[in-house]
Amino acid sequence: MKLETMTWPQAEAYFKEHDTVLIALGSTECHGRHMPLGTDWMIPDKILEVLETMTDVLIAPTVPYGNTDYLSVFPGTVSLGPEVTYQVMYRILDGLRKHGARRFVVLNGHGGNNAPLDRLALDMEEKGCILVPVNWWTLVWDLVPDWNGNTPWHSGHGGAEETAAVMAIDPALIDYDAISDSGLKALSDELPFSSLSTIRFKGVDIPVRRFSRDVTDNGWAGNDHPKYATKEWGEQMIQATAEYTADLIRALQKVKLD
Ligand SMILES: [Zn+2]
Repeated sequence: MKLETMTWPQAEAYFKEHDTVLIALGSTECHGRHMPLGTDWMIPDKILEVLETMTDVLIAPTVPYGNTDYLSVFPGTVSLGPEVTYQVMYRILDGLRKHGARRFVVLNGHGGNNAPLDRLALDMEEKGCILVPVNWWTLVWDLVPDWNGNTPWHSGHGGAEETAAVMAIDPALIDYDAISDSGLKALSDELPFSSLSTIRFKGVDIPVRRFSRDVTDNGWAGNDHPKYATKEWGEQMIQATAEYTADLIRALQKVKLD
């Protein structure tokens, strides 16, 4: 049930009986030369499309921008930054709260949104609500360990996992000829980047945040090379995330709130 297709009396009726809202948050950002800039909001948006057939929870419109300052040097990338991402989500959730929403499940498509969502979760708790983010790309590693791509540092950005999920939306969204190695750079001979946000020194990954053009010319990074992506894998991940989230919503609806 999508908020954008409801009338206000229908929304009023929903909030008389229910207090749960689902919303997707993403980012508009570089995902390597081969993937669309909308990857991080189109995947959660697709998961919501599947979820809509499994639950009658109200779905608020997807937020297509987020916090991605470190990728903002790549053409087409637009970042709200951490403060504005927080403020946008705060106003949306607090607006829904005033109509009766208490339980929020945020289907998140982008790691840079985690810090703003953490802060928001505490604010919402103080208002008698609960916010639970679902980071689909790490959730599926716990559901099926093989889907992790054997990446010990969980850094994947624009690799096979996301490429597969975009193929499940529409295989034509991928520029297959543009798939190549990520070409991670180095701070020095001793300090190569091991992901978009880590350098490796003496076998240990150390978090170092730099503007991503210092890190890679391509824009994707991780151990799961996008050449291994398949549409079937993408479909399985989207289906599994939707099923898990539907169950999670049912459990959250039993939580007693003050
Ligand atoms: Zn992404």
